[in-house]
Amino acid sequence: MTSIVLGQTIWVVGLIAWFIIRYPYARRARRTATLRREGTWRERLLLAIAFAGLFAIPVLNLVTGWPRAFAHDPGYACVVRGAACVVLGAACFAVSLWLFRRSHKDLGRQWSASLEVRQDHQVVRNGVYRTIRHPMYASFWLWAAAQAFLLPNLVAALSGLVAVAILFFTRIGFEERMLIDAFGEDYRRYMQETKRIIPGIY
Ligand code: SAH
Repeated sequence: MTSIVLGQTIWVVGLIAWFIIRYPYARRARRTATLRREGTWRERLLLAIAFAGLFAIPVLNLVTGWPRAFAHDPGYACVVRGAACVVLGAACFAVSLWLFRRSHKDLGRQWSASLEVRQDHQVVRNGVYRTIRHPMYASFWLWAAAQAFLLPNLVAALSGLVAVAILFFTRIGFEERMLIDAFGEDYRRYMQETKRIIPGIY
């Protein structure tokens, strides 16, 4: 198997694992009452962009080869060519999926795909939330990085990073403001004790 096919295979396996991890939480979320929903149309647009960049565009490329003019060998993007990209991509995916699973477990019933405050919502500050406030978004950045290392087409490789950047930088301010509104001092104190996505740095 060439490193290109191996990279694509790892990406597909990672995608399936992502859906398996999320499924039970998405099911449970449908049954949990919501007290407040933020910027519904903005949120829908952001989720559509994430869906396009992390799922629809790469899948379309894998199935049809579109857009062919942007086909490339991911090996050229790495300092050490070829297999190094597959190893880096697989490592990013492994950490991303671990963080994705942990953050779902720690967030429990407070999780929602768009910005919401749930019934009996509490500020979570344990587990992976002890050092960073947005471990799930950190896992999205790692997933997008894995995609950039693994997929042999520039558009499909970079669409994930563009989508996550738009989702993250548009949503993060609204999310933190919503949680300050809902929890006041409690969330402000939590913000002082933690960074957003990189422990000790940002
Ligand atoms: N930004 C977080 C959570 C993403 S899920 C992360 O990246 O890990 C989005 C929902 O999580 C939001 O609707 C918000 O209500 C909730 N949320 C985010 N941080 C939280 C926290 N520390 N405690 C409780 N709920 C939180």
